[in-house]
Amino acid sequence: MQFNIEEILQIAKKIESNGYRFYTAAAEANEANRDWLSKLAQEEIGHENIIDDFARSLVSPADSPDDPDNLVLLYLNSIADSLVFSASADPRTFFDQEVSIDDIIDDGLRREHEAVAYYSALQNAMQDEAAKAQVGLLINEEISHIAWLRRKQEELNNKRKARGKDRIYDLIIIGAGPGGISMAAEVIHAGMDSENILILEGAPRTSWMIHSLYHEQHRVVADYKGASPVTYGIMKMRNMTKASTLKMLADTLQEYDIKVLYDCPILSIEKKKGIFHFQGKEHSYKARFGVISIGVFNRPNHPDYPIPASLSEKIYYEISSNKIEDAGVLVVGGGDTAAEFVQSLLNSGNRVTLSCREADLSAMGDENRQAIKAAEARQPLTVFAGSDIRKIVPHSKGIQVLFHDESRSELLVDNIFYALGGNTPLQILKISGIEMKDGKPVLTKANESNITGLYLTGDLAARDEIGAISTAFNSSYAAASHLLQKYFPEIAAQQAKSRS
Ligand SMILES: Cc1cc2nc3c(=O)[nH]c(=O)nc-3n(C[C@H](O)[C@H](O)[C@H](O)COP(=O)(O)OP(=O)(O)OC[C@H]3O[C@@H](n4cnc5c(N)ncnc54)[C@H](O)[C@@H]3O)c2cc1C
Repeated sequence: MQFNIEEILQIAKKIESNGYRFYTAAAEANEANRDWLSKLAQEEIGHENIIDDFARSLVSPADSPDDPDNLVLLYLNSIADSLVFSASADPRTFFDQEVSIDDIIDDGLRREHEAVAYYSALQNAMQDEAAKAQVGLLINEEISHIAWLRRKQEELNNKRKARGKDRIYDLIIIGAGPGGISMAAEVIHAGMDSENILILEGAPRTSWMIHSLYHEQHRVVADYKGASPVTYGIMKMRNMTKASTLKMLADTLQEYDIKVLYDCPILSIEKKKGIFHFQGKEHSYKARFGVISIGVFNRPNHPDYPIPASLSEKIYYEISSNKIEDAGVLVVGGGDTAAEFVQSLLNSGNRVTLSCREADLSAMGDENRQAIKAAEARQPLTVFAGSDIRKIVPHSKGIQVLFHDESRSELLVDNIFYALGGNTPLQILKISGIEMKDGKPVLTKANESNITGLYLTGDLAARDEIGAISTAFNSSYAAASHLLQKYFPEIAAQQAKSRS
């Protein structure tokens, strides 16, 4: 679909009027935050007026975007195209169901980011300096809204952190990935009060590992690496995209009103006089029972050779937070994460080399192995299978990579992505006194540790299997059922009654 400049400005107006309607409905829905939400709504009207003035001065053909190759206009059109759908939906429908202030801030941020992307593309399309400056005004206004929303988010989180430290919860869960979220959902579904349950998440958002290690096009499969897709509790698993997996987990949080404190990494757990103390960086949180569900990707593994300090800015361990394009990139690693990094980097127009120790790519799942082989045939991908890096050194043109096998030619790249897996967060398990055998926690069938009332779920409870989302859900179901029967028998009995 092609838009002309008048339509493009109409879309800009629609973004602003939607912004106004969104913040007005938000203010009505949330009394405690009414003042500042109303202020944001009023500012969106101001933006609409700027666009009106701007449209009057721009609609003459001489001032239309000047883009000889049509590239910028094409880009603008593509953003407009994707926005038309969301812009045509009435933002007030968002409030048809009950929404928390966190949901409002999240959706507000999404809207503001879309507006900034749209106006930045529009600004690029302008040649006239006065027109550019006017669009710049709008961009600055939207950016100030983003900063405002972020500050509010931080303020709310800090208040909750401070409040949360003063009370004793029934259950605290560490980690808001599939394991932690399903654990909270299971016990709340069974009848525990969501007000007495808290998840402490180390990252700024939930499901952080999925967010940061899955590439955007990852097909999330229910039978990952041979795991059974069958689940026994309320959480169900099916084949999905990364976005729909994250949405399914976010919807669960909303459906069960699960409380999460973000940016709250827990360093140790201690049981004193029957109460668990979860020690964070600033505060300690208390609960009668605990669950550790922090996955196995605590910190990405680093290579065994040193990384020169001058190269540190060119080295990455995760894929989502950087936008490397049109570069020569080396991916080091042989598993599925490495395969995902390769595919994502190829998609952003990079020339990629994959170095892995396995000569037959046997550490990857079948699907990824086939994808890598297919990509090698038709995309700028070179696979150094069976290779072992000796060291990396700075070079005037980037990074020089040297291999143990000297017959293999040296490689010159701009960036390196390491996908060497994560190290199990042994430290926190050890400090907390959890019994370990062969580097793995010793657990009962129901995933209770040697410390009574402290459970492990998710990848940490996968034992000798490879962890998957379905197994994380099942480990939580087992732990939740046991916790309820042993420590909350009245809730378990009530649940059994309602089932029969
Ligand atoms: C690249 C890749 C692709 C995959 N594809 C699939 C697939 O297609 N299908 C499938 O079923 N499975 C897949 N998996 C496996 C699946 O993602 C995991 O089994 C699942 O996420 C495990 O859930 P979890 O909750 O145990 O851990 P995680 O998902 O790792 O979540 C742990 C959470 O705990 C937080 N945390 C960590 N330390 C702390 C701390 N000290 N304090 C507080 N919070 C902390 C983290 O920030 C994170 O949010 C894949 C894994 C990878 C790496």
